[in-house]
Amino acid sequence: MKKLLIAMIFILSATVINSFASEIPDFVSIGINASSLAQSVSLEADGGIYTEAIFAMPEAAQENGEASEGGEGAESGEITEGSSFYIADSIEVTVSENGTLVCNGKETDETEVEFLKTSEFIVCQGKKYRGAIRLSVRHGKILIISVVHMDEYLYGVVGKEMSDSFPLEALKAQSVAARNYAVISMRRHESEGFNLCNGVHCQAYGAVASEGSNVRQAVDETTGKLLYYNGEVVECYYYSSNGGYTESSENVWVSEIGYLRGKADPFEDGSRIPGYNWEVTFTAEEIKTVLDSRGIDIGDIVNVEVTDYSENNHVTAIKIEGTKGEKFYYKDNIRAAFPGNLRSTYFTVSSGAGEASVRVLTGNGMETVKIAPSYIMSGNGILKVSGKGREGEFTFSGSGYGHSVGMSQYGAYFMAEQGYTYDEILKFYYTDTEIKDYES
Ligand SMILES: [Zn+2]
Repeated sequence: MKKLLIAMIFILSATVINSFASEIPDFVSIGINASSLAQSVSLEADGGIYTEAIFAMPEAAQENGEASEGGEGAESGEITEGSSFYIADSIEVTVSENGTLVCNGKETDETEVEFLKTSEFIVCQGKKYRGAIRLSVRHGKILIISVVHMDEYLYGVVGKEMSDSFPLEALKAQSVAARNYAVISMRRHESEGFNLCNGVHCQAYGAVASEGSNVRQAVDETTGKLLYYNGEVVECYYYSSNGGYTESSENVWVSEIGYLRGKADPFEDGSRIPGYNWEVTFTAEEIKTVLDSRGIDIGDIVNVEVTDYSENNHVTAIKIEGTKGEKFYYKDNIRAAFPGNLRSTYFTVSSGAGEASVRVLTGNGMETVKIAPSYIMSGNGILKVSGKGREGEFTFSGSGYGHSVGMSQYGAYFMAEQGYTYDEILKFYYTDTEIKDYES
């Protein structure tokens, strides 16, 4: 029943999110430090920073049209019709005892202020940003929000999520995927007062430091473009690499989504991807410690066994056997079930007993069989296959990094290298989709 409820909530929220995901907003607000609010924030910009008058001015001064003085370094207190501006070379912002913002030692009436600049960048806590910086009081501290145009946001995402050294068509595919993902996710942090966070929860946003000229070109050349499936904006999941097969959405999460279909990926060249093949060994005690921390007591760990693979050869169920019981993990929970998270679900596991699990092609398709230590012929020559490690140890051997749903970033790299264009890359990884210019 609980599972059904969770599934229903998932479907419901997916519908709600999609109904808002029909347009590309001009501006995006990104929470920079929601998990570590600042006691004080320093801002500076060439040519100065300005903001609307924010100081509690004596009434007489207001009537006379005098703006309050800026702090140290203020250049002017320029007055425009109906409002005045505060300008300074640099601003140090703290929070007063009353919970309002204090700028260069002057207390304001405001709990949220947006700081603008006339030059290209504003430097906040030593880091360069485009657009404006909005500071907002939260629990007596300061939340920093970067407010930028959508494509400026994407400059800071594509360069962080990929690398400026990737081929242009791969960067363009990533630009469209990131734009789609942002459009779909615009309301994720609504209750916190911004659109998206700067972490992998939304998309990693590194601001100006992550940009590069290729990244900016890729974003500019795909501006306004979104990927659609049956007229709906595609939620473009992506990851680093998949081990050779992408995975269908329902084999990792819950819902079956038409454009997130698992398939063989012939493009990833594992020999050129750092850390592509991985191996990690845990002792029975280490696995027990993780289970204990979750309040799961199945006694001492005696075996770890894959109990189900998907049609795309990723692990979808794993059983941990203890002296007092057993615990199963499924789909997306498998990676997090072990210390430090497994890099992917494309793996086999062997115990220290000497037996090895291997995937072999049989008359019934790919199957897992247990074999004694053996020598096998592989694409890389003769390999010894055996259970690794000592008794009471479990070795996971796998390939790829990430959830494998949607686009492989390294797959995109190699497709681009082979001459595929960004729309061909996107259409390969997102089944039955098409790219269209967003029309406002
Ligand atoms: Zn987020």
